[in-house]
Amino acid sequence: MLNAKDRIFTNLSGEDSPFLTAAMARGDWDETKKILALGRETIIEHVKASGLRGRGGAGFSTGMKWSFMPKSHPKPSYLVINADESEPGTCKDRDILRYEPHKLVEGALIAGTAIGAHVGYIYIRGEFYHEAVILQKAIDEAYSKGFLGKNACKAGWDFDLFLHRGAGAYICGEESALLESLEGRKGMPRLKPPFPANIGLYGCPTTVNNVESIAVVPTILRRGAEWFASIGKPNNTGTKIYCLSGHVNRPCNVEEAMGIPLKELMDKHAGGVRGGWDNLKAVIPGGSSVPLITKDIAETVTMDFDSLRAVGSGLGTGGVIVMDESTDIIKAIARLSKFYMHESCGQCTPCREGTGWMWRMMVNISKGRGTSKDIDDLLEVTKQVEGHTICALGDAAAWPIQGLVRHFRHEMEERLRVREAV
Ligand code: SF4
Repeated sequence: MLNAKDRIFTNLSGEDSPFLTAAMARGDWDETKKILALGRETIIEHVKASGLRGRGGAGFSTGMKWSFMPKSHPKPSYLVINADESEPGTCKDRDILRYEPHKLVEGALIAGTAIGAHVGYIYIRGEFYHEAVILQKAIDEAYSKGFLGKNACKAGWDFDLFLHRGAGAYICGEESALLESLEGRKGMPRLKPPFPANIGLYGCPTTVNNVESIAVVPTILRRGAEWFASIGKPNNTGTKIYCLSGHVNRPCNVEEAMGIPLKELMDKHAGGVRGGWDNLKAVIPGGSSVPLITKDIAETVTMDFDSLRAVGSGLGTGGVIVMDESTDIIKAIARLSKFYMHESCGQCTPCREGTGWMWRMMVNISKGRGTSKDIDDLLEVTKQVEGHTICALGDAAAWPIQGLVRHFRHEMEERLRVREAV
């Protein structure tokens, strides 16, 4: 369990004010000038050494990502922060935006300096209206104190930060769709390569980072890379905000160490499974797009990128969705299929057609319509979609179904048998 002294987000539950005076009392903006004076290369080296992996879901090294930005380029560089948090089961960035906005604003300045950007954009989910109001006030406060703008923090680097509100499309959380949307076009993912570090916003070198990844950076640089790396497990370091929802007694957001056992996370922070541990049926451990795991796996697995991958799932966003024995697991996954069908941007055929196919087949199976061959066909469709699309939404639609078939095929067959027998 994480020691209280190692918590980065000390106002995660919003007991204190999010604004400047209270934020500075919590340690934000403390000697930022000294951090910036380390210079671009050293900041990146520190972030690399901390082992910080992107908290948006992909888990790529943040320091490494920053190092891909060109040192000199005829075009300007941009920092873009992805605050389009829309993954079902995930609400961690929201609490940073509304309760700890200055950690994000300060992190943006440091990241901007590290990648050579004079301008940063925060792309915030349209529905986060109140969060946008709070964040804008925090940005305004930072400008009024000279922390942003010309010669930000008197450290010799100009940095402007703009807040941009999206219009509520899940796909705009995909980094290249986000850039399209920011440029004023429909949020449709781009083919990669080229990657944003080469050709990103307005055709210029761009780094896109998740809110949590940026918000932890000031504390890492203040307390040291070794401190951050000492928390968690090798290759899975630091703290992480987990969101616990569904059939737990006390749904919550909590900052914990990477690698905490899932059972401990659920029992200590969320009051355990409704009706007791034996009433647990399945857990989706990382937001709706990762495959579910069963009670047996949940009993021993730890919450980190590598351990969850080893059991055929993923840490994703850290959004833990708990389902007890009362859950109609086939219907639950069918509902997720509908979500992905609805959110598909439609530009590539396997996703556009496949998400609809998968949803319709899932609905039929959930109602007991069909035969067990339909389960094989459904699985085959998921394989045809997975890895054959422009962006990861195709995979995100396929994986929950693959997890269902892997662990609950017997329940699907039983549903079909019952109907056949009628
Ligand atoms: Fe659009 Fe789906 Fe293709 Fe992504 S995978 S680009 S969401 S059609």
